[in-house]
Amino acid sequence: MTDAGQREATARLADRTRSLERSKIRVMFGLAEGADRDLVRLEVGEPDFGTPDHIIDAAAEAAHDGATQYTENAGIPPLREAISETMARESGVEYDPEQITVKNGAMEALSLSMMALAGPGDEVVVPTPAWPNYVNQVQLAGATPVEVPLPAESGFDLDAERVAGKIGPDTAAVILTSPSNPTGQVYDEEAVSKVAEVAEANDAYVIADEVYGRLTYDDEFRGTASYVDSPENVLTVDSCSKTYAMTGWRLGWLAGPQEVVDAVTSIGESTTACTSAVSQQAALAALTGPQEPVAEMKAAFAERRDFVVEKVAAMPVVSCPRPEGAFYAFLDVTDLPGGSFEIAKRLLRDYGVVTAPGDGFGDAGEGYLRISFANSLDRIEEGLDRIEEMVRAETE
Ligand code: PLP
Repeated sequence: MTDAGQREATARLADRTRSLERSKIRVMFGLAEGADRDLVRLEVGEPDFGTPDHIIDAAAEAAHDGATQYTENAGIPPLREAISETMARESGVEYDPEQITVKNGAMEALSLSMMALAGPGDEVVVPTPAWPNYVNQVQLAGATPVEVPLPAESGFDLDAERVAGKIGPDTAAVILTSPSNPTGQVYDEEAVSKVAEVAEANDAYVIADEVYGRLTYDDEFRGTASYVDSPENVLTVDSCSKTYAMTGWRLGWLAGPQEVVDAVTSIGESTTACTSAVSQQAALAALTGPQEPVAEMKAAFAERRDFVVEKVAAMPVVSCPRPEGAFYAFLDVTDLPGGSFEIAKRLLRDYGVVTAPGDGFGDAGEGYLRISFANSLDRIEEGLDRIEEMVRAETE
């Protein structure tokens, strides 16, 4: 199509399509795809393990037994029951099964929550660096994302004063992601409580994205709604994706105040109605079956986390905050020439390592590269060796 033709075609699209920024992680993924050389892929945000066999078997059996049709919009009752029990056991948060709605991944749960809570004139506060989808989700809902850059000096800790300072009468929600993608930070409970208090005083909900909650390496994880003063003001989002290596099954959920959960279920009726019946059976098997595979994957991630931290500490110029959870390390490469995106592209072109540029996670991430340690120790070592080679070549 000619440029003019392309312009005319896009002019017919709704304005909201123009506000969307393409994720830089996907751009890097695109640049890497199809390359016929030995690339080390450290940009990927999903476990490198397969879904445990007993989950796959349960799903196949369920499909043969008739789990092939629509289900209740909020998910089948035994699954909502299992989610309620798992959340109480694993992160200490109490939600009745009726307060849970099952959706197509945390992604859909978040996206529908944004539509339920925020519209034109509303603001959603997003401390950054953060998973880039939030900003697009807020914009698609017609609301305004308000990024709050967290301080790099303290490893991107949740700075309660800074975040609270951006909460006001127009704030519909504040998104807190702990453990964080991309930094691996687990937020300090006191800081979260402070933010939650200010949010409540301004009639704004706290959206606690806890998809990495079961992947913490130092301390037991406690869900936000288990310790803040007003748990009824917290929406908790979680999924099977990262915990059970089930990204492709698209199974997540929202738990929260009844009116919000009902609104999300009701809006979801116009998008997908319910999530796949087979995936719901798979999730049921995941949550109620043996949890050893989760412990094994977590142990592997913990070992890799330690390896990455040690290896980065031995590099000249580069450093990273110690990830306390998730499977990402956020490397400070501010001493290399150019911005993160240029550095990431150079690293790919000249050294064959694919990373996610930090500015893709908000302005606060400029000067950083996110690497994922959802890869084998060998490949992580190879990738970090190549990064070190580039750092030495460019700085010595
Ligand atoms: N929230 C965060 C912080 C993520 O990093 C991701 C995926 O990378 C999601 C939500 C989406 O997870 P799901 O696969 O459950 O949609």
